[in-house]
Amino acid sequence: LSASRNPAARRWPELAELAGTARAEAAAFSAEHRETLEWYRAEIQTGIREALSTLGRDVDQLSGGNPLCRQLLDQTVEYIDWMQWTLWDLPTFAVAFGTDLTRFRKRVAACGFVYLSFRVIDDMLDRHYLYRGRRPTLLKTFTSSHGQGHDSEGLTVLASLLLSFDGMARLVSEVDAGDEVAAAGMRRLVASARQVLVGAILERSDESDWSLAFYERLVARKNVDYWRMLNAALDPDETSPLHPFLIDYYGLAQRLNDIQDHSADEARGQPNLVTITRRQLAVESCSRGFDEPAPTAMQAVEEVVRRDFMRLGERFAVLRGRERGAASVKFMESLSEARRLGLFADLDSRAPVATATLPKLDLVWDSTAEEFLERLGPDALEDVACSVCGGDDLHLLFRKRGFALRRCRVCTHIFVTPRTRAEVLARLSDELDGHGEDPYLDIQRIHAEHLCQVLRRVARGPRFLDVGFGHGYLLHLAQAYGFEAYGVESSLERVHRLGPVFGRRLARASIGRDRLPWGSFDVIAMSHVLEHLSEPRAALKEAREALADDGLLYIAVPDMDSAQFRVFGKRWDVISPVAHLQYFTSASLTRLLGTCGFEVLTRVEHPEPSPIATGATELFRRIGGNESGELGLLARVAPDAGGTS
Ligand SMILES: [Zn+2]
Repeated sequence: LSASRNPAARRWPELAELAGTARAEAAAFSAEHRETLEWYRAEIQTGIREALSTLGRDVDQLSGGNPLCRQLLDQTVEYIDWMQWTLWDLPTFAVAFGTDLTRFRKRVAACGFVYLSFRVIDDMLDRHYLYRGRRPTLLKTFTSSHGQGHDSEGLTVLASLLLSFDGMARLVSEVDAGDEVAAAGMRRLVASARQVLVGAILERSDESDWSLAFYERLVARKNVDYWRMLNAALDPDETSPLHPFLIDYYGLAQRLNDIQDHSADEARGQPNLVTITRRQLAVESCSRGFDEPAPTAMQAVEEVVRRDFMRLGERFAVLRGRERGAASVKFMESLSEARRLGLFADLDSRAPVATATLPKLDLVWDSTAEEFLERLGPDALEDVACSVCGGDDLHLLFRKRGFALRRCRVCTHIFVTPRTRAEVLARLSDELDGHGEDPYLDIQRIHAEHLCQVLRRVARGPRFLDVGFGHGYLLHLAQAYGFEAYGVESSLERVHRLGPVFGRRLARASIGRDRLPWGSFDVIAMSHVLEHLSEPRAALKEAREALADDGLLYIAVPDMDSAQFRVFGKRWDVISPVAHLQYFTSASLTRLLGTCGFEVLTRVEHPEPSPIATGATELFRRIGGNESGELGLLARVAPDAGGTS
């Protein structure tokens, strides 16, 4: 019945049906066991507090009341007491298993300590100073009270080890008191802890080793085994019928967590489901036909998560009694989390909100990868292969503002990947049009005179096109040198500004996307344009189409062979990963020109170093650097590529 009216039931019929069943059973389970769940929760709180206070007393005694030990323990106690909410899944399972309350308290305090100690270590490994951007972590607390250096990290490790061994000692004493489950728990705890440590190493793998298979293993080793440490308190032999469900449930929980943390992981270069899926799609798109629409990364991730839910549904279907009730609660919690993250948007037949106009981005050219992702979601970024040779054997040079700059091992070209998607950049350009000027536009003014002299000597005719004319310095001078000067710009504001002077010889166009107007030119200049483009190859082919067969092309871009880049690296002002996507060397630009039907004639050296002095460039001048940092090449249409292709 609902299938015909509910859009979600059309898109996700099985999931909608599953949710209907689970919702009713989860509500019944929670209502029936509300009181018992509260008892177990109270036992967690009591158990952890008792254990923390015993640990504090023991350390005080062992250290002879040492002030550092006391301070450290106070800070640890406060953090762990707060962190105990991460154990609050346990009451649901304890109800399912009918665990004895007192034994529950003791075992949870023991296994919980080991589990929480790993969270403390994780904060340190990931340099987490704030939990979810709010609560200071133990690492942060230690850093504030013991300095920035290795001391705070060392103390964090020591506090974590202390918690871990204290937890194990607690479990051993339960074994000694005759708790058989605790003995099995000890074995499970040690085995899982060892597996989690392997996972923590895996997580630090070089990104060239990331794949979907790697990701699955990482989730199993790290996140699922993490929970198994805690589950050692309840079902250490893992014989409960609920166990297979929970293994899948914790795998899914991590995938949802990845969606939540994607922007931060992306900016830090840590493996994440969304990142790895997006890369996989980029690889697959090479072999995809033109007619097949490519799914976005989020659509692909949504499909992964949908399959997870379906598998959970199968596990759920074979359960009975309280175990089935506990599973339905966890199923519904995951589903609400998925919905909160924006997945399965019309599951309750709430139509997605249609917006007539796109909202303002409120981002700038200096915004970070994280800001783009937070503002626009995972599909704000795209992974690309080398724009010059198409290669994907890349070497990570560095990250700036969360964006990775990589060098192609085949052709030396440097470029940003993953990068801001072209549609997003187009929106940003429109939004920022006329607001704030690019200081590098002034380079065009400084070099214009010399460039016109060179071009006047070698050009075969007067028709001149300036692609990306900026403030129009080159247009004005070219006209003074006798050229018929035309210009295109992607900025409407700049087209309007020069309109009174050049009239109909100006047009708004983005090279590579729009066809260049006015037909055959003798000279085309592209000064500081190519580094901004998503598709430099398409732009050069477009330029080739607009040139006469004996036409000339002048290209200027920042020079990645320059001393300034070698000296300043990522601090060089030119390195601006949203505005500048392409970073050429002389070799890579020559190669690209060659494959687009051009032959390089000469490098145009500008006699005057640029007087533009901002940040790193100013420092470079002061220490005597006099190169322009610019790569200017003059090329002609290659003779054998003559005629139109
Ligand atoms: Zn390449």
